[in-house]
Amino acid sequence: TPPTKESILMELQQGEVKFLRLQFTDILGTTKNVEVPKSQFFKALNGDVTFDGSAVEGFTRVEESDMLLRPDLSTFLIYPQFSREEGERGRVARLICDVALPDGTPFSGDPRQVLKLQVERARALGFEMFVGTEPEFFLFERTPSGLGSTVTHDKAGYFDLAPIDKGERIRREIANKLVEMGFEIEAAHHEVAPGQHEIDFRYAPALETADRIATFKFVVKRVALEYGLLASFLPKPIPGVNGSGMHCHLSLFQGGVNAFADPAGEHGLSRTAEAFIAGLLDHAGGMTAITNPLVNSYKRLVPGFEAPVNIAWSTSNRSALIRIPAKRGNSTRAEVRMPDPSCNPYLALAVMLAAGLDGVGQQMEPPPAIQRNIFRMTVREKRHHRVKELPTDLREAVEELQKDEVIAQALGEHVLDHFVEAKQAEWREYSATVHAWELERYLDLI
Ligand code: GLN
Ligand code: MG
Ligand code: MG
Ligand code: MG
Repeated sequence: TPPTKESILMELQQGEVKFLRLQFTDILGTTKNVEVPKSQFFKALNGDVTFDGSAVEGFTRVEESDMLLRPDLSTFLIYPQFSREEGERGRVARLICDVALPDGTPFSGDPRQVLKLQVERARALGFEMFVGTEPEFFLFERTPSGLGSTVTHDKAGYFDLAPIDKGERIRREIANKLVEMGFEIEAAHHEVAPGQHEIDFRYAPALETADRIATFKFVVKRVALEYGLLASFLPKPIPGVNGSGMHCHLSLFQGGVNAFADPAGEHGLSRTAEAFIAGLLDHAGGMTAITNPLVNSYKRLVPGFEAPVNIAWSTSNRSALIRIPAKRGNSTRAEVRMPDPSCNPYLALAVMLAAGLDGVGQQMEPPPAIQRNIFRMTVREKRHHRVKELPTDLREAVEELQKDEVIAQALGEHVLDHFVEAKQAEWREYSATVHAWELERYLDLI
């Protein structure tokens, strides 16, 4: 049974909780908290706590300054204790909130609202999207003064065993904390690059997964800090080795049955699956700015590091943007491989859902699946197979986003405008910087 205000108040009291964090996410994907003490618990549960929206990135309109936090009661949890001092200060609980205008209407600049609208759209068509993710991250040493570095805490590689894998203890600790918070952990392992890790949790409806990704990042960073390390979700912190992706496994369910599976279809896929995949491919360029939002994201999307570069799908190889894993029946799904963990999870799942639903709505046909390693194809072969490439940098991605009406509409005017403005500014700043590479390459020579 879902919790009620009364049952949560009871739990807060029994758990001797001292503070309640009301959590939401800004347009750029940063998790924000308004923390209230015991005396405000009742007000918070009633959705009557306000905050100054003009202080939040991307919410910056004067008329939206006093915004309401409306808690989603199903997201209630009491945090585990991350350290002894924390335990002494008293327990903390959290509720993930929707943001509303002073008159109570949902705020269109709230990323969670953007995802909810797409979830509604799917529901109106009889579908529910489930999502499982594979977030990857690096563990780095901190300098003696506590600052981050890119010195990895180990030299291990893919699936290496302890004692080489020093991250194992930390990973296990992260997994334990997540389990205490109601996550079901499916796998946790060292990744290809030194210091790189992955922890996978069970798939769930899109909104729940987006909430979980936000929580996951917080827990990973918090536990790493406890061990004196920096956990970073930067997509490509170290040149020359794999970057960190966040592959997203998408499936549609209809009446409790996986709507992607059809034993009689080609590759065992239904027409719905084919059309959804076609929509994802059609809008891949337009949604990349959302799924890969940093200047740095595009340093990951280069050939040779298991990250996609080409807009294609495959039932066999991992060089494609979309891979269909071998499992069928209720596990039938599309693995979208371009998102990275720096994305805003609400917006990323919203645009993927919008893209897929557009394919379904228009009964799009995907191009034939490509079973060969696309990285080994020549330019001519790619042209022959009509394989296009993902945007190669943030500027191009933002341009493609602006041209894609389906994606723009899914984001809504408020989010689109603020996002584009912020990303254009980021690009200008990057372009005006002289990077170490340029000096190394040119200074002596020219
Ligand atoms: N790190 C790779 C990426 O950037 C994925 C590696 C893997 O999980 N096979 O997407
Ligand atoms: Mg994996
Ligand atoms: Mg992986
Ligand atoms: Mg994967």
